[in-house]
Amino acid sequence: MQLREIDFGTKGIFDHIYVGSQCVRRDLNPPVGWFDLIYRLCERLEPLVRELSATLPPGDRFEVVQVKQKMGELRFHVSHRNAAFDAEIEAAQVDSLRTCEHCGRPGALRNVDGWLVTLCKECLGPTEVPA
Ligand SMILES: [Zn+2]
Repeated sequence: MQLREIDFGTKGIFDHIYVGSQCVRRDLNPPVGWFDLIYRLCERLEPLVRELSATLPPGDRFEVVQVKQKMGELRFHVSHRNAAFDAEIEAAQVDSLRTCEHCGRPGALRNVDGWLVTLCKECLGPTEVPA
């Protein structure tokens, strides 16, 4: 079984994410700085998806429905949930709040012109307002 692939596609990143053999996509627009973080999350979800898929009725399959930044934090919405999925996704969310969404270096949650973003000092530039 193919572990997973992330296809950068024509629009940028994440036209497709595969977890196991399950093609997952719909609304995937995460910040590029979180690529590694999401990649690692997909690796951890892989065995869970394999387990889950064995229990699903024909025609039903696991999908990642939405991947994006909201309030400075990773949102990773999936079609099927359980405690194990939630724990992995929550761990990735915690990671996202200390990872610059632009470059992937250590970052912090910040308020930029009223928008919550997670950025490192370099990507923030000179106009920091405490979050
Ligand atoms: Zn940065």
